[in-house]
Amino acid sequence: MNKNILPFRPDWGVPAPLLKDLLEKGKRFNIEEIIPFSPKEINVAQWVSLKCRYGCSRYGTSWCCPPATPGLDKVEQLLSEYSLAFLLVGTQHFPEFYKNNHQKRLRQIRSWKGTISLERALFLDGYYKAFSLVGEACALCKECAYPEDCRFPAERRPSLESLSIDVIGTLKKLGRTPRIAQHHCEAYSYYAIILVE
Ligand code: SF4
Repeated sequence: MNKNILPFRPDWGVPAPLLKDLLEKGKRFNIEEIIPFSPKEINVAQWVSLKCRYGCSRYGTSWCCPPATPGLDKVEQLLSEYSLAFLLVGTQHFPEFYKNNHQKRLRQIRSWKGTISLERALFLDGYYKAFSLVGEACALCKECAYPEDCRFPAERRPSLESLSIDVIGTLKKLGRTPRIAQHHCEAYSYYAIILVE
């Protein structure tokens, strides 16, 4: 465990200057909040993978979605190897979010790259196991190369849902109200998690 982390403090022992620095970096990428919490609060469930398999057009089309990503049995093991997580929250606003338009893709890429850059900052700060679980599907390429070789493997990360993570259930456990757009003109939230030790 990183020596800076004292597990039973409410702030999880994350040094305030580090959190401030992460937030400043994150704001450049539209990430507005960074909240430390225990990975034990992350809900995983079989029904999430069911929703990927039946009902999502990205299933079987991306390196960051099932079946290319680890199954639930491996995810539980993976989470048990971490003692701290950061919830990243940002706001996305697209009048037609259900369409895959260019503007939406650019915003997705911005949030994605922001998450990876915060993971990198944590790694450089001594959190050497830092690993990002990113919101939405990878949009770095206009069309994913799957099943051919990924074009940007250094930035490839699994999406939260692809690891059977119940994002809404997890947010509720953390006392957060999930922000889901009910109408096409409403803003909605970007969520990502970075696991650290
Ligand atoms: S970087 Fe490109 S090829 Fe790799 S997972 Fe993302 S969209 Fe697919």
